[in-house]
Amino acid sequence: MNAMKTLIGLEIHTQLGTKTKMFCRCANVPDVAGLEPNIHVCPICLGMPGSLPTINAQAVDFAIKAGLALNCTIAKHSRFDRKNYFYPDLPKGYQISQYDMPICGPGYLEIQTASGPKKIRLRRIHLEEDAAKSSHPADADFSLIDFNRAGTPLIESVSDPDMSTPEEARLFAQAVRTIYRYIGISDADMEKGQLRVDANISVNENGRTTPITEIKNINSFRSIERALTYEIKRHAEMLKAGKEGEMIKETRGWVDERGETVSQRSKEQMSDYRYFPEPDLPPLEPDQEHVRKLKAALPELPAAKSERFMKEYGMSASHADQLVADRAYAEFFEETMSELEAWVDSSGEKVGQAAHKKLAKMAVNWILVELTKHLNKARMEMENVRITPENFAEFLKMIHRNEINSSAAQTILSHMFLRGSDPSTVAKDENLLQISDTGELEKVLEKVIAANPKPVEDVKAGKAKAMQFLVGQVMKETKGKANPGIIQDLLRKKLA
Ligand SMILES: [Zn+2]
Repeated sequence: MNAMKTLIGLEIHTQLGTKTKMFCRCANVPDVAGLEPNIHVCPICLGMPGSLPTINAQAVDFAIKAGLALNCTIAKHSRFDRKNYFYPDLPKGYQISQYDMPICGPGYLEIQTASGPKKIRLRRIHLEEDAAKSSHPADADFSLIDFNRAGTPLIESVSDPDMSTPEEARLFAQAVRTIYRYIGISDADMEKGQLRVDANISVNENGRTTPITEIKNINSFRSIERALTYEIKRHAEMLKAGKEGEMIKETRGWVDERGETVSQRSKEQMSDYRYFPEPDLPPLEPDQEHVRKLKAALPELPAAKSERFMKEYGMSASHADQLVADRAYAEFFEETMSELEAWVDSSGEKVGQAAHKKLAKMAVNWILVELTKHLNKARMEMENVRITPENFAEFLKMIHRNEINSSAAQTILSHMFLRGSDPSTVAKDENLLQISDTGELEKVLEKVIAANPKPVEDVKAGKAKAMQFLVGQVMKETKGKANPGIIQDLLRKKLA
């Protein structure tokens, strides 16, 4: 056997969207753009001597929710520890974290890879506080520190090294982000630093293994794949050359602009954090009844939603996964569907599974293709879309009933997207409705029949091509606003 095997594990730091900081009552708003530095601070988060921390109950609930959503056991007994290190952004000289007794124990998450579902085990999720933010102005001989972020609640979700490709690592990180957004504990925006991913990687072949490298400074989902691809290649080359013994266990930083990692420090050089139990905080012993309540209150999670969409609406796995990847998309779809279903059920039109699935298919296509095009072009998120599900359902109804043709539909959607307009008003204002008034159509038909005696004879003789020609003539007369189906019906009756 000569297969090279890659082992990848992730550590995902997520800022929790609590009202206040982890151990004090300062507002937790680390990412507000343009916020004046050092205004949400107090003696506790500035680490003044004599100040005492208290535990933020909402942050504990959020950590428990994260654990429950990722199938973790919730510790009956857990505690905080001090992680000691010296760095200017750490006012106390230690970070309050959790060491050997994290709040959430082992769990797992199933991701959907190209070759099918794969279970990724989670080792733990623990609570801690964020450090302050330091910045290094160009050409300055000083650094700046903003303590607004000091003490922001964080959870660190640590996986086992169960991923074997960069793509799997990205999928796992994205799946975790989606779940944290679903359960409402964080916006988990990587660009804002609300979600930060470190990756551990080693490669082995025939019993020989490279030492683990930890990659830091990964700032986007794309970078997860790029950084790991770079590192796997580096490890594999060392293995091939038989030089794995020359490698060291180290931390490397990803430099996005250069597309490479650079050594930051070796594990041997890394400080001993001298963890010890935090003496100023009581143990964390969540009430089991409270944990059960939190579990019962969890929303439907992405995997379950995707499965239900496939079953209920007959959609493909890929469509279902695309919709549930963003909770706003899934909700927009479902609200649109419930409007449409109410209409189908009350309209007396052909009801039944087939009709529902047909409408669902139409809704999925218009959302995932056309509406998404508008969103991408405007660089907008679904949650900010101006179109209401009621109006979108109304719009789909107009298409379903052939009240508008496809080019009119595109025009109407643009109006709806830009201004949040009501589709029927746009159709009327822009004169886009198809002619469905048969009286008006009859007049046009008479005119076309009178002007085309030869094709009329051909239709009567059963020639399909002649029918197409006559329909075309009527469409021309009505400037494309007549419904071809209705024209054919009327012509058949007239020429029977
Ligand atoms: Zn504070």
